[in-house]
Amino acid sequence: MDYNIVRKLFESPKKIVITAHRSPDADAIGSSLSLSHVLTKVGHHCDVVIPDAFPSFLDWMSGASQIMVFDSSEQEAAAKIKEADLIFCLDYNRLDRIAAVGDLVRNATAPKILIDHHIDPATFDYMLSDTNASSTAELVFDFVSNLDWVDRIDADVAACMYAGMMTDTGSFKYPSTTAHTHRVAAELMDRGLKPTHVHQEIFDNNSFSRLQLIGYALTNKLEFNETNGVSIISLSVDEKSRFNFKKGDTEGLVNYGLSIGGARMAVFLSEEPAYTKMSLRSKGDLDVNVIAREHFNGGGHKNAAGGKLDLDISAAVNKVKDVLESLDN
Ligand code: 5GP
Ligand code: MN
Repeated sequence: MDYNIVRKLFESPKKIVITAHRSPDADAIGSSLSLSHVLTKVGHHCDVVIPDAFPSFLDWMSGASQIMVFDSSEQEAAAKIKEADLIFCLDYNRLDRIAAVGDLVRNATAPKILIDHHIDPATFDYMLSDTNASSTAELVFDFVSNLDWVDRIDADVAACMYAGMMTDTGSFKYPSTTAHTHRVAAELMDRGLKPTHVHQEIFDNNSFSRLQLIGYALTNKLEFNETNGVSIISLSVDEKSRFNFKKGDTEGLVNYGLSIGGARMAVFLSEEPAYTKMSLRSKGDLDVNVIAREHFNGGGHKNAAGGKLDLDISAAVNKVKDVLESLDN
């Protein structure tokens, strides 16, 4: 990212569209909203467009209610992307990660700026891609800082950034957490951030039925293979609906599997009506990004990846076990 060139893009007021990935998480939404707020404060018009809905535990973020969800406002979102002067691509590395929105972005004439921390990014006009960064939110802070806009970060903006950093680092626990991550968090506190508030909004806002779903999954659906250190949790459409499932209710469930002493890898399989979504987590050098790419039509990072199987839940569980067995041999 050559900031001397990028700076010029912002010299006159621009119509800017910020996009983030499908099944958006706190990093996708927190990065998008914080960048949108800062760009608005320096005189630009910003719209955030995402492919599908975000979980309600992010509703508290400033600007969340103005996010345009492509699935429910296709025409309006398509027009915004087409007419944009500049498009940001946040927290994803390739346009095929954002479904139909990706085709619109690809066809749009506006220059595209990528800010992301996933491995192997495609080529964009301007790129801030750092696979060692804890989160896209941390990179958005760096971007804002390099353009001398840190003074535009207020408490609301800081809370959005912090939410992305906090969740993508497992509350500052994963090895991606660096001294710089903590320095950025400290700077956000200097700008009015109340970390306790963000923790409470995200982690202390469970519905009763969500906790019951987690309890059910851990009691009845967790399998652990002591030989290869792999845990698997699977949930069918029917099981989720028994617990009044809402988007985001299984967020983080995969981490329970990884917290077993001796676990090297954890798999979570969640059945949708037409396919099964998979989450993979690992410890140390076991690279789940490679496994997701080679076997499950997906990708991600070394220790956190995901994929999609065009199978129902029981076939998906069998396929995962077959693949893991073949890897062991
Ligand atoms: P999660 O398990 O939280 O859904 O995703 C973990 C990581 O894997 C995220 O960084 C996400 O970007 C990546 N990921 C999840 N699903 C997919 C997928 O279907 N394809 C690719 N390429 N990456 C995925
Ligand atoms: Mn991220």
